[in-house]
Amino acid sequence: MQRVTTVAELRAVVRAWRAQGLRTAFVPTMGNLHAGHLSLITRARELADRVVASIFVNPTQFGPNEDYERYPRTLEADASGLAQVGCDLLFQPGVAEVYPDGPQLDTRVSVEGLNGVLCGAVRPGHFDGVATVVAKLLNFVGPDALVLGEKDYQQLLVLRRMVRDLAFPVEVVGAPTAREAHGLAMSSRNQYLSAADRHHAGLLFHLLRGVRDAIRIGQTDYAALSAAALGELHAQGFVPDYFEIRRAADLAPPESSDLDLVILVAARLGGARLIDNLRVVRPTLPSV
Ligand code: AMP
Repeated sequence: MQRVTTVAELRAVVRAWRAQGLRTAFVPTMGNLHAGHLSLITRARELADRVVASIFVNPTQFGPNEDYERYPRTLEADASGLAQVGCDLLFQPGVAEVYPDGPQLDTRVSVEGLNGVLCGAVRPGHFDGVATVVAKLLNFVGPDALVLGEKDYQQLLVLRRMVRDLAFPVEVVGAPTAREAHGLAMSSRNQYLSAADRHHAGLLFHLLRGVRDAIRIGQTDYAALSAAALGELHAQGFVPDYFEIRRAADLAPPESSDLDLVILVAARLGGARLIDNLRVVRPTLPSV
């Protein structure tokens, strides 16, 4: 695996691949890689001849009181993990390479409608930071495919919409969430949890599955299902930001005719803010 820190080096490598007619897939990350990230590389390998990963802890997607400074940085371990799963090129720029004029840009990408709900309501500016840096990374790499985790479902929708609205010539591919044995979605932020809390955090997936199963057998009182889940989270010592059932296509509150749904949760436990989600297709006929 090659490792580069500058946009010029990155572009030279990808340009040479393109000259050979090779297809490129790109997996952006903030590092501290776990099996979930590595599964995206494996998916990317299925989609393209060459795989580029980036590791960049993007300052502009963190709020002033968030964990930018303490976000775990484990570059050498990450690089060896990427090499083992067949990543071809690691782009590991510094902040000045991505933002030569400083991180506060005059031009920003703001995916309105999606950027102000759910995590966007709790983390103002977060999705603008994500969309803007991914727009830059796409312009640096110029990939044929962009592979993103369904774990960050709202982020996936934001970036799909950006790619569509601004006509980035890239295919966006979502990949399933990798989980620990007890159901907890893998996340770099799980490291902020004590061993006991890490186990306890399996409740999030347990609640998501319970609500999914209820919807599958025909329950449609989404407000009641969400309220019960929120009550359980509070009772179990979580501080939830939201537990919501939304339309999968655009995160709007579901109409009675909407069948394709997503259940989303964000909650704090100990020092960590955890998010997870689960898709569910509602049955067409009410059960009897
Ligand atoms: P991050 O490093 O947290 O910015 O995540 C980089 C990419 O990995 C994003 O597309 C995430 O959605 C994805 N990702 C994070 N956690 C998981 C997971 N548990 N399973 C699959 N993909 C994930």
